Amino acid sequence: KPRTRYVGNRLKNHLNQRVRTLLSDIGNAGDSLGVEVFVVGGFVRDLMLERPIEDVDVVVEGDGITFARYFASMHHCRLHQHLKFNTAVIIFEDGFKVDVASARLEYYATPAALPVVENSSIKMDLARRDFTINTLAISLNTETFGTLIDYFGGGRDIKDKIIRIIHNLSFIEDPTRIFRAIKFSNRFGFRIGKVTANLIANALSVGAVKHLSGLRVLSELKQIFGEDNPLPALETMADYGLDKVIHHELKLTDATCALFESVGKTLAWHDLLYSDDVYPRWAVYFMAWLHGYTVKVSTQIADRLMFPLKERELLLEQRIKAEQSIRLIEKSYPVSNQQMYWWLIYFKTESLLFMLALTKNESVRKGISHFYTHQRKIQPLIGGKEIKSVGIKPGPVYSRILNKIIDEKLDGKLNTMEQEIEFARHYAIENNLI
Ligand code: ATP
Repeated sequence: KPRTRYVGNRLKNHLNQRVRTLLSDIGNAGDSLGVEVFVVGGFVRDLMLERPIEDVDVVVEGDGITFARYFASMHHCRLHQHLKFNTAVIIFEDGFKVDVASARLEYYATPAALPVVENSSIKMDLARRDFTINTLAISLNTETFGTLIDYFGGGRDIKDKIIRIIHNLSFIEDPTRIFRAIKFSNRFGFRIGKVTANLIANALSVGAVKHLSGLRVLSELKQIFGEDNPLPALETMADYGLDKVIHHELKLTDATCALFESVGKTLAWHDLLYSDDVYPRWAVYFMAWLHGYTVKVSTQIADRLMFPLKERELLLEQRIKAEQSIRLIEKSYPVSNQQMYWWLIYFKTESLLFMLALTKNESVRKGISHFYTHQRKIQPLIGGKEIKSVGIKPGPVYSRILNKIIDEKLDGKLNTMEQEIEFARHYAIENNLI
């Protein structure tokens, strides 16, 4: 029997009107179809922790797909169905999403493989989850609306700030949970329970993570590095020797810790001033993590983690060029606007942020942030059409002229199209192009 208690007031106080209405609509739909419906997992955990709610995950005791179809037709939503897993996503007109699952019994064909699915009840659904803090459910049907259902002591563990698995084979069954334990422990400032910690060590000692596919490890690492402050998580990973499993040369040094702190400050500065400029947060920490490792080791790590091609470029080329460029800039500083521009324009936002975190030279930092905030967006107002109108034959000279215009603009010159066209004409005459 589960522990139950009424948390309707919490729902009322903590959630906005929209989510409250959504929950009762879901309950009503459950009533109409005669099935029990629950909101579960991270939603309930975050509600109990009074943290902002992100995803709404619903479990239907019965056929989730039928439920989702019914709800979507009643509320004019779109639907994504995953028939194989008996799950669906309800998508509202404004993009808001609700995940719907069928209460099911899940078992794993082999360790680290995809689950095989079978229908069953809410308790079984909650039992297959990773940690007790994620096993709470709240009933949404009208009669029982707002009843918290706690089968595995998740409520107590949230109060005690502790991450605990539900059964002893948890990490063997799915080793990604090792990373998830560290992520949650870091995010909420919870400790990992003693038994749970021992089971992590045990799973590692039997090679559980070694056999995990690179893609899955990468996905977990991205999540960890995407958190507000991933440094404590990195330290916990090192304590368990998880970094060594990814590559034997990985080692957490004081320099890496200091760099992580510096990245934290840089990102806080950036996000405060330029909240519209989005970049993959994880990528900056990833570059910091691998700072200083050779191309060979970095390539091996990228291979192990099955980095997709685009991200590989970021990790290998951008990071190594960023490290080289920052050294060059530090050595040559002060440099002209033009020099700085042509050195830096190659880099993506995340690499520039990495460079900002990397340098200890205050003037260089100012120079890079000046590039970032003022010079990076400089573009000629004219294009090929205007250059052609001057009478210059199309060819590589066009981009040379446009680059020269950028050089001028970096010094505050050429503010109108006319001035730029005039500049192009001058350039053409001087170089005998017309
Ligand atoms: P986040 O805030 O990071 O999204 P979350 O708890 O919502 O946290 P999800 O990764 O979206 O995490 O997973 C949703 C739910 O699915 C979790 O609450 C957890 O119960 C369950 N879950 C996710 N991954 C696993 C796993 N590897 N093993 C068991 N249960 C899992």
